[in-house]
Amino acid sequence: MGVGKMAAPAAASSGAPGASGSRGRLRGGGVRRRCQWLIYWVPVLFICTILAWSYYAYVAQLCLLTMANIGEKVVCLLAYHLFFIMFLWSYWKTIFTLPMNPSKEFHLNYADKELLEREPRSETHQEVLRRAARDLPIYTRTMSGAIRYCDRCQLVKPDRCHHCSVCDKCILKMDHHCPWVNNCVGFSNYKFFLLFLAYSLLYCLFIVATDLQYFIRFWTNGLPDTQAKFHIMFLFFAAAMFSVSLSSLFGYHCWLVSKNKSTLEAFRAPIFRHGTDKNGFSLGFSKNFRQVFGDEKKYWLLPVFTSPGDGCSFPTCLVSQDPEQASTPAGISSSGRNENNHNFPAKPLRDSQSHLLTDPQSWTETSASIEKSKLGMSNPALTIENET
Ligand SMILES: [Zn+2]
Ligand SMILES: [Zn+2]
Repeated sequence: MGVGKMAAPAAASSGAPGASGSRGRLRGGGVRRRCQWLIYWVPVLFICTILAWSYYAYVAQLCLLTMANIGEKVVCLLAYHLFFIMFLWSYWKTIFTLPMNPSKEFHLNYADKELLEREPRSETHQEVLRRAARDLPIYTRTMSGAIRYCDRCQLVKPDRCHHCSVCDKCILKMDHHCPWVNNCVGFSNYKFFLLFLAYSLLYCLFIVATDLQYFIRFWTNGLPDTQAKFHIMFLFFAAAMFSVSLSSLFGYHCWLVSKNKSTLEAFRAPIFRHGTDKNGFSLGFSKNFRQVFGDEKKYWLLPVFTSPGDGCSFPTCLVSQDPEQASTPAGISSSGRNENNHNFPAKPLRDSQSHLLTDPQSWTETSASIEKSKLGMSNPALTIENET
């Protein structure tokens, strides 16, 4: 996971001149990929090492060897293990939950791919994309008003989907690529990532709160100068330091959840057919929260997948669209609107639309309208923009 594609040299026959050079480059590419793979895991290894040491320092050095009161010892050990397990569970799920990619409906078929390769950047190119996107529940556009297309993955990008240059894939509702989990944070694991932040913050705050009195007693010579002193003091500093950075990151993501924004959308507001709308996906605090955590309260605190929908389409807060702008991307002349009006649902989605892709009746189009769509094949709005 997380290894970028390397430029593969062209295949050469075994007897051809330069074959050994190609094999050498292939071997070199393989070594480089393995090195990259190892480097990507270093931050995860760093966190695991700190976590393992903190377990030893807290359980062995602080609880078992330093705490004298048996009641305090039991309570601290029980509470510590609860936070520790929840932290590890959510961290594990964030790391090892594969990011979700767009479903096959968003991929171009073989004939369209051939057409695009034969005639790149032509009117045919634009028409192919418009035809491919016609039955898809897509509301966002590129800055130039074109249909969002990934020429790397050769697919029409669903709303909120972005191409990750590290994973070299399009990731549904991509938030960001996180080196600390060596994974893309997106639709499939955003809830796990939030819980990971919450439980790691609680873990650090709990250590700070219970370690504080022993930390002070070591400084004031209230306890003997043993090996435990080093562990308890360093444990306090590390937990306090991580608490500060985690609380700011967790606070930021709480704000993003409350506004139903991804990190990428906070930096660049999504562009809809009627223009840019930074709160286009916001449905109000309660619904925004449930878009990530689901409706069942009993699962809210557990790293179990409960986010509604399929990750390809999302409800928006847009009530209705101006018919003048319904098919007119921001900043584009509306001259081609009649040809395009039928291409997309006139009303934005209000509820989770996971059923749309399995219900072809929802977006049925007559052959007459298909013929009409061909009239709009030269629409200058439909240029390709490769977003990464
Ligand atoms: Zn892509
Ligand atoms: Zn990624």
